[in-house]
Order: sequence, then structure tokens, then C-alpha cells
Amino acid sequence: MIGISACLGGTYCRYDGETQQIPALIELVQKGQAQMVCPEVLGGLPTPRDPAEIVGGNGFDVWNGTARVVTDHGEDVTEAFKTGAKIAYEKLQASGITQLVLKERSPSCGSRVIYDGTFSGAKKDGVGVATAYFLAQGMDVYSEENWQELMEVVDGNRKNKSHERPL
Ligand code: SF4
Repeated sequence: MIGISACLGGTYCRYDGETQQIPALIELVQKGQAQMVCPEVLGGLPTPRDPAEIVGGNGFDVWNGTARVVTDHGEDVTEAFKTGAKIAYEKLQASGITQLVLKERSPSCGSRVIYDGTFSGAKKDGVGVATAYFLAQGMDVYSEENWQELMEVVDGNRKNKSHERPL
């Protein structure tokens, strides 16, 4: 079982009320092989909601207290983002999940690139708030852009297990 961003699994939980669904990931959810989490919704934020970006750093800096998550209207939503990350982690951990596929560029779920905090569409290298938390707990994070690499690992493990013989 892997964990995925709920919007990748077909949930309409994006800030603008849309989904970012990927058919192959929806299939994994339907087969019971993937569990969906949306850290922003779990943190109590509504859908749709104002777009937010990390100002002053990346997700790790938010946890260090040197960066904040702010909406395009200037509202500070840092605490909701942190709360949602912790709740999402608890849910994933309860299912024994350590490998994730998360939505790239999101201020919560980004794993390599996020928007730069200017609401101009410009991006910067860095991780989102939830991703930083998951990585700090030792989870492996992939995105919709490289998740096939994870599937190769998962399939390899499955094949190895099927070759295991009882003594
Ligand atoms: S917080 Fe993550 S799961 Fe929720 S809408 Fe944003 S990218 Fe998708």
C-alpha cells in the first residue's frame, strides 16, 4: 500500500475545487493499493480555498519557524498546513504506509519544486509543508512526475515475495 495526494486519486480537493487525477493512481485506490490524503483539507481548510504559497523559504523552513504559508489575500494559514500534515502522517502511519506519491509544486505536497511565494507563477526548488514533515519522519516521497520509479520498486518487492518459499 502506498499513500497518494488525494487530488491525484480523483478527489476534487484542489484549492480551486478541481482534481489532478491520474487514471493509473485512481486504479490503485480502487484496488485498495493506495490510500488518499489531502493535508490541506485535513488541516481544516475549505474547498475551494484561496491559493497559498510559502513565503520566506520552503516546507522545512516553515517547520523551523523561518517561513510562513500565506494566501494571495495575505491570510496566514501556516498552522492549518502544519496541522493537516500531522493528521495526514498519522493516517498514513496507521496503515503502515512509508512510500508516497504527492502532487508536485503544491505548497503542501511538492517534493522538488514549489511556487516561490510571489504569486507570479514563478517556481523555486524546494518541498511543501506536508512533504517536509513526511520526509523528516523517514517516508519516501515521489511525485506524479517520477512515480513510475516507485512502482518499479513495489513491483520488484512483490515479485521477490512471490519467489519466497516456506522452509
Ligand atoms: S494539499 Fe496535496 S492532496 Fe490536497 S489538493 Fe493540494 S496537492 Fe492535492
